Amino acid sequence: MLTDDEWEELEPLLKKDIECIKAYRTETGVGLREALDILRHDACERCFEITGFTETNPDVLWHHRLSIYGSECTQCGHLFRTPEASFCANCGYIPSAMVESAV
Ligand SMILES: [Zn+2]
Repeated sequence: MLTDDEWEELEPLLKKDIECIKAYRTETGVGLREALDILRHDACERCFEITGFTETNPDVLWHHRLSIYGSECTQCGHLFRTPEASFCANCGYIPSAMVESAV
């Protein structure tokens, strides 16, 4: 997962990578998988430098931004799906603040 500062650095690389993939596919007529395998992706390389996590598909990186998720569930440790989530989608836990506001 990337902080907002890390995301600011990665997003321009990601947009450039996506444009390169589109241009390469238009130019050569190859499929997406082949283009992903052939091309070098600056966003994936920078993400690896920051997190140590290897990602081969730059498009997946859109979901690696921490601020699009909510806080960590106090019961199971998973992140809530959004900052506005009223329950944990992983274990079903509803924080007591949410239960009180629903009554
Ligand atoms: Zn949970």
